[in-house]
Amino acid sequence: RQSNLASSLHNLDGRSYGNLKQIRGRYTFGPVTVFIDRVQADPFASPSKVRVRVDRADAKFPLDLTTDRADRIAAADYLLRAGNEVLAKLDQRALILGRPGQEILERTNILIDDAGFEARLLVNLPARGRRILGHQAADILTRDLPEFAERLFLFDRWSDAPAGRGGNTPAPSAKGLADHVQLHRDQLELRSHLSEAGLIGFVGNGAILPRKSGDSDLPMKSSDAVVFTSPPELEHTVELSSGRTVTGMGIPRGVTVIVGGGYHGKSTILRALERGVYPHIADDGREWVISDPTATSIRAEDGRAVTGDDISAFINNLPSGSDTRFFSTTNASGSTSQAANLVEAIEAGANTLLIDEDTSATNFMIRDERMRALIPAEREPITPFVDRVRPLLTEQGVSTVLVAGGSSAFFEVADLVIALDAYVPADVTARARELVGVEDGAEPSVEASDAVFAAAPARVPTAGALRPSSKTKSAKAKGLDTVQFGRSFIDLAALSQLIDGQQTGAIAEALEYLAEIFDGKTSITEALAEIDAMLDAQGIDGITGHRAHPGHLARPRTQEIAAALNRFRGLRLVD
Ligand code: ADP
Ligand code: MG
Repeated sequence: RQSNLASSLHNLDGRSYGNLKQIRGRYTFGPVTVFIDRVQADPFASPSKVRVRVDRADAKFPLDLTTDRADRIAAADYLLRAGNEVLAKLDQRALILGRPGQEILERTNILIDDAGFEARLLVNLPARGRRILGHQAADILTRDLPEFAERLFLFDRWSDAPAGRGGNTPAPSAKGLADHVQLHRDQLELRSHLSEAGLIGFVGNGAILPRKSGDSDLPMKSSDAVVFTSPPELEHTVELSSGRTVTGMGIPRGVTVIVGGGYHGKSTILRALERGVYPHIADDGREWVISDPTATSIRAEDGRAVTGDDISAFINNLPSGSDTRFFSTTNASGSTSQAANLVEAIEAGANTLLIDEDTSATNFMIRDERMRALIPAEREPITPFVDRVRPLLTEQGVSTVLVAGGSSAFFEVADLVIALDAYVPADVTARARELVGVEDGAEPSVEASDAVFAAAPARVPTAGALRPSSKTKSAKAKGLDTVQFGRSFIDLAALSQLIDGQQTGAIAEALEYLAEIFDGKTSITEALAEIDAMLDAQGIDGITGHRAHPGHLARPRTQEIAAALNRFRGLRLVD
């Protein structure tokens, strides 16, 4: 029906915009199938949705790069980046494929399945005033869109320029694709090796951790950055099955404290570990920064709402008399918000916590001896984190990496102390322990006490907990940091590991999905596991109920889905 679409569009030229609706449907252009799934109602409405698809038999992609599930994520990421270059070459700005950042995320933008390859685009169909610009629309949809699909999805048409120097082969290229998929494989293999080796984080020698600027995720110019080098004591070398050898600093399970003077790079290293839950593209500088995928940043976030958290391990005997085993507030303090963030992270499956002094409530973290003497324990509701970090490890198996430049309080409880001096790390564990009088080789101290992290009672939302009051379409992402849910807004600005607006979009869908699961019996933990299993089985399309065109979404971690749920001010629990 190719001539069909072109001639319809030419005929529609100059007619009122609403008539565009009739072009919805499916059209064939040689090997390319174009689906026009949704047509915007007017020129200012959100863009129309179109897909292009090429069958495997025509695409002729190497099967070994596009079959395994993880390979498909990497290959789709490559095709997304290459697709943007193709669009730039076609100089076609009306077609929007979506732009990735420095990470490789599972996304809906490009779909690779057993049958073929599909790109999901948004398109602003052109108008003058409220009149259709039919000839231009025909150029976009019947010339450039199929041409885009052919250049991207017909492997035989790819340039195969000789192996690029430093990844500069023009995309798409067979070598570019193969390298991209292989890097991703190697990163995943290293990650699974780390967990077997008892490491919760790894920073490769040669890594460039600092970014170009506070508002850019691109690497600092290598001439300005001090490249990372592991202290010899912490160095690990891993030989990957591809033949690649990676050497760098391994951070073992346990309590690790990062110290050093101000501006010596402490937060930068922690931030790199925070991002290390995601794989990074070549030349990012963090390709070999790999963390426990459940690692979660914990910070103070005063003002947030908390619903029914058991924060009693940290906070007790509040002057208000509230029960901190089932703590709710519409306006948490610095310390209570940090405690809530911590127990919620554990509820959502975090095995590693990342904490920076810069974003922590001091009274949550430590209390010094004189203050302990002045304020009797029963008048102080907070048991500081320094007293809980060991039980967290021994009772819950949760490791901590903590930046603390201002206090030696954590030396006694640390398994490892890393000092940064002008961005160069050193293992200073022995010296730090000596300073606080812990004998060499002794286990870090904990006051013997009963278990402080009694099995937290499961939190079970009520059946209607996620039914927003308004009747309008329920959940919607508003940029990276906000989800609108019914009439309320969920503020996600404190989630440093929510990194892409498409993840926020998927979180909005996840909340709607959760609304269906919660029946007054299912706990938050069970519901999150259900979503995760569904995403593993069906991909992100599954969370939208497999709409033909799901929009541009990216897979968030369970931790960030949970974080959004926990910040919803309308959350209600069964008591
Ligand atoms: P700290 O937390 O120790 O005070 P930061 O991590 O905030 O220090 O780093 C201070 C500054 O140094 C930042 O501007 C950061 O970009 C820069 N920086 C961090 N690591 C490096 C490095 N390896 N090479 C060059 N500059 C760096
Ligand atoms: Mg800092």
